[in-house]
Order: sequence, then structure tokens, then C-alpha cells
Amino acid sequence: MSKTSEEHSLLVLKNYIGGKSVSCRSYIDSYDPSTGEVYCKVPDSGKEEVDAAVAAAKEAFPEWSARSPEQRAKILHKLADLIEANLEEFAQAESKDQGKTITAARTVDIPRAAYNFRFFSTSMLHHTTDCSPMDHMGCLNYTVRCPVGVAGLISPWNLPLYLLTWKIAPAIAAGNTVVAKPSEMTSVTAWMLCKLIQQAGVPPGVINIVFGSGPRAGDALVSHPEVPLISFTGSTATAQRITERSAPYCKKLSLELGGKNPAIIFADADLDQCIETTVRSSFLNQGEICLCTSRIYVERSIYSEFLERFVAAAKKWKTGVPSDPSSKNGALISKEHLEKVRSYIALAKSEGGIIHCGEGLDQLDLPERNKSGYFMPTTVITGISDSSRVMQEEIFGPVTCISPFDTEDEAVARGNGVRYGLSATVWSKDVGKVHRVAQRLQAGLVWTNCWLVRDLNLPFGGMKNSGVGREGGKDSYHFFTEVKSITIKH
Ligand code: NAD
Repeated sequence: MSKTSEEHSLLVLKNYIGGKSVSCRSYIDSYDPSTGEVYCKVPDSGKEEVDAAVAAAKEAFPEWSARSPEQRAKILHKLADLIEANLEEFAQAESKDQGKTITAARTVDIPRAAYNFRFFSTSMLHHTTDCSPMDHMGCLNYTVRCPVGVAGLISPWNLPLYLLTWKIAPAIAAGNTVVAKPSEMTSVTAWMLCKLIQQAGVPPGVINIVFGSGPRAGDALVSHPEVPLISFTGSTATAQRITERSAPYCKKLSLELGGKNPAIIFADADLDQCIETTVRSSFLNQGEICLCTSRIYVERSIYSEFLERFVAAAKKWKTGVPSDPSSKNGALISKEHLEKVRSYIALAKSEGGIIHCGEGLDQLDLPERNKSGYFMPTTVITGISDSSRVMQEEIFGPVTCISPFDTEDEAVARGNGVRYGLSATVWSKDVGKVHRVAQRLQAGLVWTNCWLVRDLNLPFGGMKNSGVGREGGKDSYHFFTEVKSITIKH
């Protein structure tokens, strides 16, 4: 069948298996979120492609795992250098593919992708293991950590290269080989990475990237008997499915899932700093970050002032074309997602909530070619009960809800009153209160008087329905290795 001229101009991605680019029989359309147009074809891989990738990873494992950590680190460093050298090209591609602003891609996503390789290449060199003598038995006990084998890595669409490399880097630094499946909605920068993988001298089969949908490629990876470990970042619903599918094989799982993160703001908070940061924590990356604030509890004595100033600041958070450096937010990932986020605004209205700015109130000033893009203005809601789906479910868009509270106990109870437990922020100058509240909040990460300050050495992950396991310096090392206890009798 001959191709139309439109098909000729589309970007067509290929899988990367055993060090080679491999075509696929069928493809999935991928959209430019800022225009709503199809601009890329992503391989619609299934069992066959995943089997080939796992076989390549298995074959590469003995040699790669036998290398010294220093030899592996050198290659990770090279990859970091290459990403940095191509930063602008990657940032442009990430912004176009995901809808995020060029500024976010340039200053957050791509630098962090390079840093992930840099960080794990060095951190992996500094771990030690335990030794426990039993002189009375004439024995010495010690532990060693071994790579697990072929790691299956599945990542979402909100921080595409950032989260994919957060998994690939520790997995290969620890001596595993990997089969990675990025989100079918944002596969372009992972595909671009394949070229750098080759240039950096990563041996064929050590990193394999298979593109495709969750139910086909993702499921084939999760249920593959020779993939003993899965690191997944995505929604809680998908994690439940992955847990079921991998259960027959007793796989090691790390699940980084959704959030419904509270900010608790006491009357003595530094309001200038707090408002600026909480607007950012609510809306950064279109609110499409698992760590974004979506429920803001404010002590009643400052509630009115906070609300007025917060809404004024939210209105200044400009939503516009991703390539415009003055845009703070770009487009949401897809038409379906935009509709889902909008449905929560409709629900809030139907329940008597007040919309202070954003959806339905503020018009966006977009060029003609972006009129069909998936844009939505930053939206602030009040007057919603804690039991509402708007306050319970992850919306994952530029929407935040504000509500007053009277006591510390009430704030903690309401902050904890959801099924998620990923992150929380606490704002107060009272150091005792800050420690107390941080201790009581059910969240894997608590930031006080700041947000999104990350030391990659520290554990990252969620409580309750926000996940299982932790990743980060030592935690990723533990996850991507198996510990063995050895007893020597002398
Ligand atoms: P998603 O669960 O729909 O998809 C995530 C990945 O899983 C994609 O690659 C997808 O193709 C794949 N997938 C889907 N169904 C699958 C299946 N049956 N088997 C195997 N793989 C499958 O999530 P999303 O919509 O891409 O991402 C948004 C979600 O990710 C939000 O809930 C957000 O909070 C969460 N998230 C969490 C973190 C964290 O670190 N905790 C970070 C970013 C995003």
C-alpha cells in the first residue's frame, strides 16, 4: 500500500532490541498535545517484541553483571555527558511530545535525566554490606548483593525521560540488564536516547526499549517468566493489574503511584513564600506531577487573606503555547485526559463548589493553530466537602481545592483522610509544630516550608495506595539487587 504524503512526514519510531533498531508490524498514533494533531507513530509492540527484548537482555546479562562497578560507571557517565551535549534537542522534543513548556523541559526534565545517570554511576560505588562475626562458632557471616537479572521498567507520560532514566540508571549501574517500556503517549525522547546508548558504548542487549501500549507491551513484560523484577511508575489502577499479573512468578515489585497531596498552612506561615511555592506545587507541569498539591488546608484566621492572594497569584500563572518562554503551563497530555480533568470541575459545580478562577471563567489567548490543543487554565475551587470525589481522587491537572481548618488535630486528620499517601507540605515557623505534624502525616515525603527539594540519596515513594517500596540512592541499590547471607566456618 502506498503511503500518503502526510504519513511520509510523520516521525516513525523503532524499537531498540539487542543494540539494533527494529521495525514493528503496527503502530499507534501519537499526538502533539499543543495542536491536537498526530505527528508520530509509535510501535504497537506485543509479546513477540517483548520476548525478543527479554532474550537479548538475558544474553547480555552475564558479561555486563561481571564487569566492575567502575567499568559500568564510566558508561553511565558517558550517557550523562551525551544527554547534556544534546540537551536542547531533547528539551524541544520532550516539550512537543508531552505538551509541557520548553522551560520545564530545559530546566527540569532533561537536566534531571542526565543527572540520574551521573548520580547512580557514582552512588553505586559507595555501598557497603554487612559482616557479623560468630567467633564462638568459628564462623564469619557476611552479605553480598547481586544483580537480579532482567529488569522490566515501565514509566508514565508526565515526566517521560526523567522517570525512565530514574529506573534505567540504577538498574544497569547495579549490573542488571533491562527491558524498558515508556508510555505510548510520550515515547520520542526514549527513542532518541537509543542513539546515545549506542554512542556511549553500552553493550548490545544491556538496555532494550520496547514501545507500545500498557495492555499489550506492558502486560507481556509484566507477565514474562524471565523478568524477575518490575519497577513501575504510574497509576494505582494499573499497579493493581501489574500486581495480579506478576503474582504467579513472585516478582520483586517497586510501585510508584498516584497522590492526592495536602498542603497544611498554619497562621504563622511566611505567606509570601508559602503562596508562591503552593501555586507552583499546585500547577507546575500542568499539575501533572504525582507530587503536586491538590488539597490546601488553611488555618481559619488567615483563610480569607490566603484565598484572595492565592487566586490572584494563580491567575498570573500563564497557560500558553509550550514553546513560548513566558508560558508557565503548556497543554495537558491528551484530549481524554483534558475531558477527565474538566469533568471534576463540572462535578465540583454540581456539588455547590465555587470556582474562583480558571475553567469556565478565564479565556486562554492561543494562536489559531493551537486552538485544538489540550489547554486548560489554572483552576481554584473552594466549598467542597472532604468526602467529594473532587477531594478524594487524583485529578492530575491544573486544579487545586482550598478549605479552612481550626485545629492541628483536624488538619492532620483531614490531610490523612484519603486513600493516597505520597507527599505533603506543612507551612509554619513553629519548629515544634512542623516536626509534630510531619511525624503524624501519612505520606512518604513531607516538605516543610518548601516543596520538591530532592536529595536523590533519600528514599522516594508512597504509603497506602501511593505505592510499595522506595527508590533513591541506597533504596534503588537494594531494590535492583538481591542480598545473600554467606557463612564461612574457619
Ligand atoms: P498509567 O498507569 O496509565 O500508565 C503508566 C505506564 O503503565 C504506561 O507506560 C502504560 O503504558 C503502562 N501500562 C498501562 N496498563 C498496563 C498494564 N496492564 N500492564 C503493564 N503496563 C501497563 O499511568 P499514566 O496515566 O501514564 O501516568 C499518570 C499516573 O502516574 C498518575 O497516577 C501519577 O500520579 C502517577 N505517577 C506517579 C509517580 C510516582 O513517582 N509516585 C510519578 C509520576 C506519575
